[in-house]
Amino acid sequence: MAEAADVKKEIARQISRTASEGAEYVDARFYLEDSSETLLLYDGDLEANDTTLQTGIGVRVLWNGAWGFAATSDPGQLSVCFDRAAANARTASKLVKVPLRMKKRDPVKGNYATPVAVDPFDVTLKDKLDFLTGLDNQLKEDFILRRMTYANFIKKRIHFQNSEGSEIDKDLLHSFGMMMVMAPDADGEMQRRSMHLYSTGDGTAGWNMMTNPELFSGHAARIKSELKELTEAQPLEYGRRSVILLPGQGHLQVHETIGHPLELDRILGYELSYAGGSFVDLDSIGKLQYGSEKLSVSSYGGIANSPGSFGFDDDGTPERDYLLIDRGVLVNALTSRAMVNEANEKAGREVFQQSGGAARATAFYRAPIDRMTNVSILPGNDGTLDDIIAGTEDGVIMDNPVSWSIGSNREHFHFGWERAWDVKNGEKTRVLRNRTYQGHTLEFYKSLSAVGDSSTWIVEQVNNCGKGEPNQVMQIGHGVPVVKFDDVITGERK
Ligand SMILES: [Zn+2]
Repeated sequence: MAEAADVKKEIARQISRTASEGAEYVDARFYLEDSSETLLLYDGDLEANDTTLQTGIGVRVLWNGAWGFAATSDPGQLSVCFDRAAANARTASKLVKVPLRMKKRDPVKGNYATPVAVDPFDVTLKDKLDFLTGLDNQLKEDFILRRMTYANFIKKRIHFQNSEGSEIDKDLLHSFGMMMVMAPDADGEMQRRSMHLYSTGDGTAGWNMMTNPELFSGHAARIKSELKELTEAQPLEYGRRSVILLPGQGHLQVHETIGHPLELDRILGYELSYAGGSFVDLDSIGKLQYGSEKLSVSSYGGIANSPGSFGFDDDGTPERDYLLIDRGVLVNALTSRAMVNEANEKAGREVFQQSGGAARATAFYRAPIDRMTNVSILPGNDGTLDDIIAGTEDGVIMDNPVSWSIGSNREHFHFGWERAWDVKNGEKTRVLRNRTYQGHTLEFYKSLSAVGDSSTWIVEQVNNCGKGEPNQVMQIGHGVPVVKFDDVITGERK
């Protein structure tokens, strides 16, 4: 492959050539490296050992209000690639009803690197397998029917340039881990208990997170004994009661019913044919009572150690910390530069002042779309989990999703969870088997009655959020405290 420095120079030449030929905006993302490694042990046997390595350049050209995109893995074909992107844009511009714009901006120069202690790609395969096998051995027990241990590592080195003179370098590294055990209960129904590697939000990323007992490796005995209790537990009766969500469940609630409905491309209808729409419209911004006053949600780029932190998005916008929901009121959305301009034009007023830095592409050969960053519920003032339990008369504590179905506009949801604990008169009592809760998104968030303090707040990591056509899988973080909602429908009506 050509020297990286030469490729960067050639990209700069091609950008200025394409701009001089009439393009309104041009950018290129050069992936010097995009590596992944996945290891899956099923009952102690190596089920999957997948590694990928790809490099290439993705080019976007805005011409007469329309995007054109092209990509190549051959740096020798850069000129052809830029021409193809420009030709695609010119063709698309004949069909565009609302012209897209990138409001002019000063150049952005910078770099970002995930803080890494031990690069997992420097750890030998043998050491990784020994670690996962050791974990699997800890999960063995006569009553357990199935065991899984899983690790996934992603590394991206990306160089970005655009026709505004921006130049950005990013070194991203993310680690994901999971362990799961399964066993049948008295009715023959399979129960499971799992644990995913999480982040405290700070510290360093890398293999060191896998071997950190608090974040991951020390949880085998706990999930094993919790599965045992589950197989002997009673099912939850149908009825309305409080639900206390631990972050293992709360992050999925945030992801599906706050994150996805607030993606601006989705609000504008771009995702209708695949992922669905949103009950949120442009008129809702600044007005809609999304939840109770206890609900404040941020797109928080400043979390040091999270898959949703990346320094600069794929429009070249520096990450920002800003509120999406401020004390219950919807105040912003997950936005990118072109979508912000289109939304403001459609609304006939300035709904959004600037991009929220949410343009992200999964690979060099995909164009950026509006994605979640770290969509996080801010910690509250209602103390620890024990404090919240003490203030609950009739409720259920829930952890880890098993199933989820969500209305296509995200207005309703129905989640199944792995495990629950009954709460009666301020005390945590018996364990309950996997059942469900459901609700109407806005009614549910309006019933938010307690938000745990920062001691209950962790960053849950998501490595498989799918969106876009063709599909793009993205890595995301959700900082979530313990949260309590009242008068929620739980269990299934017989
Ligand atoms: Zn998702």
